[in-house]
Amino acid sequence: MPRLSIATPLRSLRAAAARPSAATRFAAPAVSKAFHLSARSTAPAAADAVKSAGAPALNTTGQPIADPMTGEVSKNADIDLSRLEIELTKNPKKIPETSKLVFGREFTDHMICVPWNSTTGWGAPKIQPYAPLNLDPSSTVLHYAPTLFEGLKAYKGKDGVPRLFRPDKNMERMNRSAARLAFPTFTGEHLTTLLKKLVEIDSAWVPTEPGTSLYIRPTMIGTQAGLGVGASTDILLFVIACPVGPYYSTGFKPVKLYATTKDVRAWPGGTGGYKLGSNYAAGVVPQQQAAALGYQQILWLFGPEHRLTEVGTMNLGVSFTRPDGSVEFVTPPLGDMILPGVTRDSILSLLRDHESGKNRLEGLPEKLVVSERDLTMPDIVAASKDGTLREIFGCGTAAIVSPVDGIGYQDELIKVPVGEDGGKSFLSLGEIARVMLREIVGRQTGEIPSEWSFPVNE
Ligand SMILES: *Cc1c(COP(=O)(O)O)cnc(C)c1O
Repeated sequence: MPRLSIATPLRSLRAAAARPSAATRFAAPAVSKAFHLSARSTAPAAADAVKSAGAPALNTTGQPIADPMTGEVSKNADIDLSRLEIELTKNPKKIPETSKLVFGREFTDHMICVPWNSTTGWGAPKIQPYAPLNLDPSSTVLHYAPTLFEGLKAYKGKDGVPRLFRPDKNMERMNRSAARLAFPTFTGEHLTTLLKKLVEIDSAWVPTEPGTSLYIRPTMIGTQAGLGVGASTDILLFVIACPVGPYYSTGFKPVKLYATTKDVRAWPGGTGGYKLGSNYAAGVVPQQQAAALGYQQILWLFGPEHRLTEVGTMNLGVSFTRPDGSVEFVTPPLGDMILPGVTRDSILSLLRDHESGKNRLEGLPEKLVVSERDLTMPDIVAASKDGTLREIFGCGTAAIVSPVDGIGYQDELIKVPVGEDGGKSFLSLGEIARVMLREIVGRQTGEIPSEWSFPVNE
């Protein structure tokens, strides 16, 4: 049987899968030197996998990954790429036309699965045909919602190479979410390597038209069978992916927000700063109520002073004209109530480099001040009335930036300035959102060289 591994070129994988004599499931004992694993010539038993891996795995903070119960560095304490098994589908699906895509409905041919158990540690990672999961009805995830997710995208540049955008940030956030749920953590680069391999295998599914992408959804769930509430002894990490149509079909159309003073998304001491599945289900009814009133999104507020936190499932950016004529960009500070968005972080970083003069960006205000500070609805109302409010936008992986043209708040519609052309093009974005879209898309597609771009073939 051919030996296939993370380092096996896609060509050889396909050739091996096509050979009638070869089984379609391959164990992958070959070793990647890039991950400091010592070479060995035979497939490892689970027990000696760690021995051969040499030094214990480190988590994202540089600590050895330890058993959550005993504190001991456990065997199979990390996702082990040398154990990867790849099974290619025998029934490739028809790839849908980009123009007909509905977000999150059609998935690529393959998925990643990595199981974990509290006594045996991480199991062998698999890339396998996309298929339903087999779960016991008593699985913890179905009752108490131990589940977390991530969302990132792969973009094909003009050279046809798919690139991940800042997957290291998603892996860092995923490990934070995992730790919050008493799930095991892992070395982020290892899962990034698996994501690249998945995208390489399903690369025909990554659309090429401007504004399109492949959305990647890493997930972890508690699969232990049993109704006791506690740390799940069995976890499944899986990753699925779906092609996404161009954002300009809806992305530039300004939205109206409903600033709810009734429902609260997140609170001090709560889990709003983690991407846990349990944070989202309860937002659906408020969203429906906002929609019934004619608003596209909820603006989540907090506290008696009505602090702005997030827009639907996006972070928030606001800009004001200051008395001295300079422009202030404001986003609320991270903490229990704000999800640390990768797009938010990217925008802050680009704007701060402009502010400091390290990398000036054409189209941004000459004098720009970047602030992470609290903002209240009375601040917004006052700025809207005295003409110092310049723009408001939501930001996240899905749309990158999404312009806001009004906020329903206490029986009033607060007007927010937007570009002129009513959603037909990027000109409906305000000046900062417009430049951020250009700069971020450039880095996603590889047109602007950047450390944020991770080509899947490197
Ligand atoms: C995912 C998410 C965001 C945006 O994060 P990105 O990493 O930029 O996609 C913002 N707010 C909430 C509540 C989210 O779930």
